[in-house]
Amino acid sequence: MQPAMEPSFARIAYTACPLCDAKASTEIRIADCTAHPLYKPALPATLRWVRCEQCTHIHVDGYFGAAACASLFAATNPEQQPGYELESQRLAWSRVVATICRMRASGSGRWLDVGFGSGSLLTTAAEFGHSVVGLDTRSENVRLLNAYGIEAHTTDFEDYRPPDALDVISMADVLEHMPFPRVALYHAHDLLASDGLLFLSMPNADAFVWKVMTDNGINPYWGEIEHYHNFGRTRLYALLAECGFLPLHYCVSSRYRVGMEIIARRLPA
Ligand SMILES: [Zn+2]
Repeated sequence: MQPAMEPSFARIAYTACPLCDAKASTEIRIADCTAHPLYKPALPATLRWVRCEQCTHIHVDGYFGAAACASLFAATNPEQQPGYELESQRLAWSRVVATICRMRASGSGRWLDVGFGSGSLLTTAAEFGHSVVGLDTRSENVRLLNAYGIEAHTTDFEDYRPPDALDVISMADVLEHMPFPRVALYHAHDLLASDGLLFLSMPNADAFVWKVMTDNGINPYWGEIEHYHNFGRTRLYALLAECGFLPLHYCVSSRYRVGMEIIARRLPA
C-alpha cells in the first residue's frame, strides 16, 4: 500500500495566472506523473493543467513548497549532473555560445548561467573567453563545479545580486521550472548591462510537433513533474516584451525534444 501524501508536499495553489494575474482559468488536462523518474509516493500523483482565460498561458494549478522541492531535488536526473556527456554537450552548446558571441561582437564578458545542471553551457562559455558564474539549487552540483575552480552558488536567482552588471544571462530549461517566471525575467533585466543578452530555452507548446505528440498521447511534457508551465513561443515573446526584452534570434534545440532557443536583448528600462 502506498503511504498517504504528506500535507507539506501538496502543491500551493496559484490564486491567479502567474503571468498576467487574471483569476479565471479553465482545466484542460489531468496528467499522471507517477512514471516520472523523480516521482515519489509522497508527492501528488497528477498534474492539473489549466489555461488562463485572459492570456491563454498554460500552467499547472499550483507549485511546490520548500519541503516538496527538497524531496524532488534529493535525486538528480543524469543530464542535470556535472560531467554528463561532456563532449557532445560541449559541441551542442558551442553553437549557442558562438551565436551569442557574434551578437555581442565579443567573446568576453560576465556570463551568469542560472540552473547550470551539467555545467556544459557554463564551461563552454568560459572556453569562449567569458568570466562565468553559475547558480543551481542542487548543492552537490555547486560543490563539483567549485572543486574545478568555477564560481557557483546555491543562491536562488531572485536573491542573487552580483557586484557588477552582467553581459549575458542564460536560463536553459529553467523558466518552466520557476513558479513565477515574470519575476525572474524582471530580475534578469535588473542584473543585465544596458546591451546585455538573455538566452532562454524550453519546450515550445506552439510547435506543430507538440500538437502531434499530444494527439498521439506521447507528449512527455504533460507528465513532467518538475515543470509548472507549458510556454508557447507567442506567449513567451509577449512576456519578454513586457519585461523589457527584444527577441532577436530563434532556433530549435538540438538537445531536447520540441525545444526552442531564444536570444533576446535587454531594452532600456
Ligand atoms: Zn494569464
